[in-house]
Amino acid sequence: MKKVFITGANKGIGFEVAKQLLQEGEYIYLGSRNLENGRQAVEKLKAKGLTNVEAIEIDVTDAVSVDNARKTVAEKTESLDILINNAGISGGMSQTALAASVDDQFKNVYETNVFGVVRVTQNFVGLLAKSDEPRIVNVSSSQGSITLHSDPSLGYQYYDFKGAVYLSSKAALNMYTVNLAYELRDTKFKVNAVSPGFTKTDFTNNMGTGNIEDAASRIVKYALIDENGPTGKFFCEETNPETGEIPW
Ligand code: NDP
Repeated sequence: MKKVFITGANKGIGFEVAKQLLQEGEYIYLGSRNLENGRQAVEKLKAKGLTNVEAIEIDVTDAVSVDNARKTVAEKTESLDILINNAGISGGMSQTALAASVDDQFKNVYETNVFGVVRVTQNFVGLLAKSDEPRIVNVSSSQGSITLHSDPSLGYQYYDFKGAVYLSSKAALNMYTVNLAYELRDTKFKVNAVSPGFTKTDFTNNMGTGNIEDAASRIVKYALIDENGPTGKFFCEETNPETGEIPW
């Protein structure tokens, strides 16, 4: 039974990832910034007979909260096998590169999507290092692919290049993923970025084209890779159904 910590797992794709990993027989520390929401999510899972799960309070923007979450998990287990950095916000998708405000928009979204991932990863890496097969999955977006978005012939220039805040936050997350995988290249760690695909959740105001089960299964796949699996790669099976791999 692998032990898994997932941020932002009280709803949306993170909740479905928790459900699927429980169905695979793993143990879930279900991260939620509001503990009561996390507990309600746990009750929903338990009602389905999925009992190896408990809620952990974590706001990824708050260093004390992240530290407390790690301490709580460390009191319960000596090692952690899988970290899924799923919590994320869009901050709205209408901002342009010139008009978006640094203080209200860029800093706000980066605090969750970039600094939150760094904070959580740095806090939990010690527990993960005690696992025989540590895995980190950073939930990114194909919209953070600079290669896809900078070539008009590829047709990925969504929103006429609006959404500058969210897209650039995921590009930053992607480069962090590359750096992290490189830093951990001579260890047992596998570190990958996965885009779940455009999915109906609160995040998209239920406007996604894909279903939540498929989105979550794409993340679960890279959480459970074995020692021969990839590291330092970016996957989006919605964009590349053949191999799943997409360019950074
Ligand atoms: P939801 O809005 O449904 O869920 C987001 C989750 O993140 C919620 O649990 C939310 O908690 C949590 N969260 C937000 N901010 C924080 C924080 N500061 N600390 C801890 N948790 C936080 O979104 P999705 O499930 O759609 O998105 C999950 C991930 O997938 C995100 O990283 C997103 O960028 C990515 N993604 C989603 C796509 C889509 O089409 N849906 C497409 C590509 C990528 P709370 O309930 O308290 O708000």
